[in-house]
Amino acid sequence: SPVIGVFALQGNVREHVAMLTQAGAEARPVRRPSELAQVDAMVLPGGESTTMEKLARAFELFEPLQKRIADGMPVFGTCAGMILLANEITGGIAGQETLGGLDVTVRRNAFGRQVDSFEADLEFAAFEAPYHAVFIRAPWVERVGPQVEVLSTVSSGPATGRIVAVRHDRLLATSFHPELTGDARLHGYFAELVREL
Ligand code: GLN
Repeated sequence: SPVIGVFALQGNVREHVAMLTQAGAEARPVRRPSELAQVDAMVLPGGESTTMEKLARAFELFEPLQKRIADGMPVFGTCAGMILLANEITGGIAGQETLGGLDVTVRRNAFGRQVDSFEADLEFAAFEAPYHAVFIRAPWVERVGPQVEVLSTVSSGPATGRIVAVRHDRLLATSFHPELTGDARLHGYFAELVREL
């Protein structure tokens, strides 16, 4: 069965591995190029996207990840991981580079300082019941390319209508942290996408 790696240089690595396992997938942490070469898909956790970019470069994972993404490897990016997948960033620092592949523009820290963290119930067409999402200094998606499917938007409050979950072929991304709430449906959705290859 396919193996899903979790980028393990920053973020909630154990939680993502646990959720993937709960979803019936085989999962393991990835810190080195040799480990990346042995997995079929990757999860990029939340954290701080410029730090993650630097760590990925320092551990010689940046270019191999870019290449695997270009070759069609499925990736699930969450929060900072979504930023890393985005083709374009706004509200970031000058010169911040991403792995790319996901045809969206993402705004970093989009919900504003005064709402550093918040929680919201989100509707997904693929799920019967709402998904309870935890946002931490989260980005949102400001532009989606023609091949990008919007999976969920915020449905109440000042950020109503903001895009917070997208899929572009084999790339899945959420603004929030799906590893924190014990709900494995998004990891299951990703594992299913990986199994379909
Ligand atoms: N604000 C972070 C960034 O811009 C992302 C926050 C997170 O991953 N929880 O990289």
